[in-house]
Amino acid sequence: MKIVVHKYGGSSVATPARMQQVARRVVAAKGAGYALVVVTSARGDRTDRLIELARQVIPQPRRTEAKGEYDALLATGEKEAVALLALAIIARGQSAVSFTGAQAGIRTDEVHTKARIIRIKAEPIRAALQAGQIVVVAGFQGTDGGGRTTTLGRGGSDITAVALAAALGAERCEICKDVEGFYTANPKLVPQARKLPRLSYDEAMELASLGAEVTHPRAVEIARRHRLPILLRSSFNEHEGTWIKEETAMENGQDIRGVVCDKGEVKIAILEVPDRPGVAAEIFSALGEARIRADMIIQNLSRRGINDISFTIAQDDLPEALSVLEPIARRLDSQGISYDEATAKVSIVGGGIASSPEIAGQMFTALAEAGINIASISTSEIRISCLIAQAEADRAVAALHSCFGLGQSKGGG
Ligand code: ASP
Ligand code: MG
Repeated sequence: MKIVVHKYGGSSVATPARMQQVARRVVAAKGAGYALVVVTSARGDRTDRLIELARQVIPQPRRTEAKGEYDALLATGEKEAVALLALAIIARGQSAVSFTGAQAGIRTDEVHTKARIIRIKAEPIRAALQAGQIVVVAGFQGTDGGGRTTTLGRGGSDITAVALAAALGAERCEICKDVEGFYTANPKLVPQARKLPRLSYDEAMELASLGAEVTHPRAVEIARRHRLPILLRSSFNEHEGTWIKEETAMENGQDIRGVVCDKGEVKIAILEVPDRPGVAAEIFSALGEARIRADMIIQNLSRRGINDISFTIAQDDLPEALSVLEPIARRLDSQGISYDEATAKVSIVGGGIASSPEIAGQMFTALAEAGINIASISTSEIRISCLIAQAEADRAVAALHSCFGLGQSKGGG
């Protein structure tokens, strides 16, 4: 049995007409000889509307039991979508069955609203595939050990799709969206941006976690671990998208793959904490426990045994981060916590960064020539990120895209 997993995002299934279009595509893929598992997100902006509804009765669901009910509510968006999509497939004369996350055997840990998948008992899906059915699975959800519904975090349907593909030994996971793949920069901002035919897992993971909004970084991480190829493509046409798979020799020499910008980050500073062992450990362990990812961590030079520690987090995590950090800041006798939401993180990503020491200087020069000030910098082997004022973000992306000649095809990629 050759298995392929398709994943459709919210805008691809937003209306009954689009549902029917998706049904047509998956029936055609089945006709080409594949056993088909289809994962879908909630329709359109359903999840946002459910969150809005929850906020009207509880502004911040902090307690575990509240988060559990919040998950139960949010999971209904995908449950509606899978039943409708299965109906649209059946309407085309093809047998189909829908599964919620629980019915699909997706077991997660207990961390509501940010759960991680522990294992998948894929037997029920396999049995339905063996029986010739197209299996439609609700993305973004699972159940914890106690049988309670959990969700995987915003955009989590990609994680479901890739995890299922890995568990089923699928040939590939196709993530079908309203864009055609990864580009050298956001094509809405930079008209010269080119679609990237392929990326290594590492490059895709950096681009995804630095704000490319094309797929979830955790989905790429699972794919990398299982050496599962991902194909990102449009839901609305048959154009080749972007393959994410193992690096090939042909990719050597591609210095920079793309420029990404994340405007959804907040810079937080904890002011004047003591310069002694254990302080950073306490702060970042607490954030980690709350599953809040910090980036661009900077501890400035110690004066009189006192430091400022600053870092960025996702804007969505701000209220929870503050409630985690405030007691720590008080305990450390800090001068308080400040935060700045008007920042943006602009990054360049590419496998060639580690081997080309001139790239950092070129990046900072391009920003300087555009009159853009850099507030902080962080680097890895395959990326360089600069924190800048949000108002200058679009200009920064355009300047970097042209500085590295990303609009011109280099061939071989
Ligand atoms: N519906 C969920 C969300 O909007 C999950 C997803 O779209 O992947 O975040
Ligand atoms: Mg969505």
